Amino acid sequence: MQSRFIVIGAGLAGASAAAFLAEHGPVAILEAEDQPGYHTTGRSAASYIDTYGHPIVCAATRASRDFFWNPPAGFAEHPLVRPRAELEIARPEQAEALAAMLETHGSALRPVGREEILRLSPILRPGIDWSGAINEATADIDVDAVLQGFLRLAKARGAQLVTGARVTGLDRVAGGWRVRTPVGEFRADAVVNAAGAWAGEVGRLAGLGDLGLTPLRRTALKIEPAMKDGLADWPFVIDVEETFYFRPDGGGLMLSPADETPSEPCDAQPDEMDVAIAVDAFEQATTETVRRVAHRWAGLRTFAPDRIPVVGPDPREPAFLWLAGQGGYGIQTAPALAMAAAALATTGDIHAALKAQGVTAADLGPSRLL
Ligand SMILES: Cc1cc2nc3c(=O)[nH]c(=O)nc-3n(C[C@H](O)[C@H](O)[C@H](O)COP(=O)(O)OP(=O)(O)OC[C@H]3O[C@@H](n4cnc5c(N)ncnc54)[C@H](O)[C@@H]3O)c2cc1C
Repeated sequence: MQSRFIVIGAGLAGASAAAFLAEHGPVAILEAEDQPGYHTTGRSAASYIDTYGHPIVCAATRASRDFFWNPPAGFAEHPLVRPRAELEIARPEQAEALAAMLETHGSALRPVGREEILRLSPILRPGIDWSGAINEATADIDVDAVLQGFLRLAKARGAQLVTGARVTGLDRVAGGWRVRTPVGEFRADAVVNAAGAWAGEVGRLAGLGDLGLTPLRRTALKIEPAMKDGLADWPFVIDVEETFYFRPDGGGLMLSPADETPSEPCDAQPDEMDVAIAVDAFEQATTETVRRVAHRWAGLRTFAPDRIPVVGPDPREPAFLWLAGQGGYGIQTAPALAMAAAALATTGDIHAALKAQGVTAADLGPSRLL
């Protein structure tokens, strides 16, 4: 089977890229698992926070905003986002870190004092002299609706999804690539590497190395707090130095110790020590005692050495495109980065929404890592 593009991976990166690439010609999406979204995409905190991460990540997040708030007609049955403020909290000894954050993000963050913090998040310990900052332009993202919407859009534009198709070999042949999988061989003019934690491995299959992409495990757990008044509207609360966070999630709270443990690409599992660290950080900051962890999981956030996503053709082999290294921001940046991947694959330049945020093709491209 010959396509114009083969997209490797059907997480949110691959699904969204396929939807935009399919406007330009036949696309095959090859997914190793039996279902799309099984790995990192299905394990996130599902948040849109445009003051989170490297400034280029923040810019890509803002460039995605319009898509999340105004998706194309018929993309999903319900809104993709539900507004939820993000509250950065600091203890007195973290005043410098808070000042630095306020300086970096300017008017996107509003300073808040102890009283407002305790009103917004009533489980925080009243005995701590909290200070903080709030971002009110943030939201929860319905990740499954976004993933299914992109898969539907890709299919409507003629893309074909093949599951159980782990790419095991990539051979450069005349006019493109031959891609080997256990369910057969596929051919395409160009390949897009959207393999998440396996992106480095797929780069090596193409003979291009891994660009230093490193999967880092992050743990999450769900608990039910004793105090639940107004819980659905509580903000996403994060320590200003990102040592832990918690947010309302379906009647309970999701907590994370914000861990970053290097890992091989794999079906990531939570480590009991990281679960205990999350519970301890939460109990130290709040008036709650965690009696039971209802659910625990882990996912791999994959970073390039500079913690900026890698999007664009490889200069050594322009028919191989990277869409990788989205780190902890691959949901909130997906629309802008997928549009960028499609634009770079077809016109060689990025699109207007990213340019308007001051991002260039060179900021995202793999050349910076070679
Ligand atoms: C705990 C946690 C919290 C997070 N919170 C947020 C958040 O609030 N907001 C945010 O924006 N981001 C968040 N993230 C990050 C976000 O989830 C990721 O950046 C994003 O899901 C990455 O998507 P992906 O498609 O690149 O990777 P994946 O979803 O992992 O998809 C890659 C796919 O490639 C497939 N694959 C791999 N190798 C091959 C192969 N050889 N052949 C075929 N298929 C292959 C895999 O099976 C997989 O389905 C969080 C992540 C974690 C773990």
